[in-house]
Amino acid sequence: MGNTQHEQVVVIDFGGQYNQLVARRVRECSVYCGIYSYRTPLKDILDMNPKGIILTGGPDSVYAPGAASCSKELFSSGIPVLGLCYGAQLMMHVLGGEVTRAPEREYGKTEVMIDEPKSALFQGIDSPTICWMSHNDYISKLAPGFRVTAHTKNCPAAAVEDEQRNLYAFQFHPEVLHTKYGSAMLQHFVRDICGCSGDWRMDDFAEKTIAALKEKIGGGKVLCALSGGVDSSVAAVLLSRAVGKNLTCVFVDHGLLRKNEGDMVEEVFGKNGAYDLNFIRVNAQHRFYVRLAGVDEPERKRKIIGEEFIRVFEEEAKKIGAVDYLVQGTIYPDVVESGLGGESATIKSHHNVGGLPDYVDFKEIVEPLRDLFKDEVRKVGLHLGIPEKLVMRQPFPGPGLGIRIVGDVTMDKVRIVQDSDAIFREEMEKAGLDKAADQYYAALTNLRTVGVMGDERTYDYAVALRAVSTIDFMTAEVTEIPYDVLKTVMNRIINEVDHVNRVFYDITSKPPATIEME
Ligand code: GLN
Repeated sequence: MGNTQHEQVVVIDFGGQYNQLVARRVRECSVYCGIYSYRTPLKDILDMNPKGIILTGGPDSVYAPGAASCSKELFSSGIPVLGLCYGAQLMMHVLGGEVTRAPEREYGKTEVMIDEPKSALFQGIDSPTICWMSHNDYISKLAPGFRVTAHTKNCPAAAVEDEQRNLYAFQFHPEVLHTKYGSAMLQHFVRDICGCSGDWRMDDFAEKTIAALKEKIGGGKVLCALSGGVDSSVAAVLLSRAVGKNLTCVFVDHGLLRKNEGDMVEEVFGKNGAYDLNFIRVNAQHRFYVRLAGVDEPERKRKIIGEEFIRVFEEEAKKIGAVDYLVQGTIYPDVVESGLGGESATIKSHHNVGGLPDYVDFKEIVEPLRDLFKDEVRKVGLHLGIPEKLVMRQPFPGPGLGIRIVGDVTMDKVRIVQDSDAIFREEMEKAGLDKAADQYYAALTNLRTVGVMGDERTYDYAVALRAVSTIDFMTAEVTEIPYDVLKTVMNRIINEVDHVNRVFYDITSKPPATIEME
């Protein structure tokens, strides 16, 4: 269990919303970090020899029957522990303090007064400091041995510690970026309290992984479903470096890709590309369009695209014959389940490919990116010399443009979206805004309206532009694109793309809308 060659901080998951962020922040200190359910036996945790343990937030109330808990021994193992929100409350509860419903709940950015500026976790941070709160309960009595190190107007114990036993607890969430010095506090914990030197680096990840893959796979045959997305591309390159021609990549062009995307993938991975692998491009556009004809219900569209994808892949796999390994671009967020769901690595890896393993004859799945977050995958990709335009791509949904065309999908509509989207992207790049938005695209609404062009009446489609800024893709704000850029995009779309006579800019945040249209 876990990653044994590196220093590790273990995050124990109590079902909080920001748990992956906790792990990310630790990784940002160059320290490996795994997330494990609170149900994981303490012995398994200790066997990983962690340098520190972080207890996350969670929806329960520690005093409620059946609330998620942990054993008291966790706190006497000598390993430094940091409890966050629910984790803080649990630490107090288990060690003899008291947690009760707070007279005044706190939610959002809150001013925190530091009472013990000498606390190791508050080094270099001035009081008061802004922290993110999200709790209904509070610590009403400290456990023996603890002292308060910070408070807020409504929360007498916003931070507590027992320096002797290396136990620390925050009622607030340092992992959330709204906590101004949250990263610094976590860094103090990981580096100064846990004594981690920071041995998790992406530059040697690639070399070490390639060596390990070589050893594992030897002369075996490997099959990879390449989507052209970041994860599968990086996985494919790692494998190609490890096994060369024994790797076959199958790229299914379902006709719902962005403009020129299929060619770009082929350019990088095909026979003129930089990698010595077998590349098969399947131009399956037609069969997808046939199956999608007349279907306008989003869930059915998604299903059809997923099923057809598997069918095409299966046909290709049969031609290749039995393979030893199937590559998956599974990344860490795919592996982690909520602490309340418990984790089961094997079940999850099958789910990830939407049933692929049932169709393909292979012995084992290899998932070289299983331990990495998206930003880490990107670093590895750049390190491996994969073109930046591929590595830094925005997330693109599996069903592709199929869900950016509201209503039924036709070849003509695909062309409209591809061309409009290409213009939008070009202008955003020109204006230097491509990094300001975390995801942006053009979609085709199912709306036709009356317009006038060249003095003639038109009755054509409306294109919607969408651009959002988000950190974690769970919530998103609309990116405020300057009007002149929007107007240029509008003008170009109307002039250059046939059958569009109106352009909308979607100003809805998530929630209530989603980032994608369908
Ligand atoms: N459920 C607990 C409370 O309401 C903890 C909340 C949290 O961890 N964010 O206080």
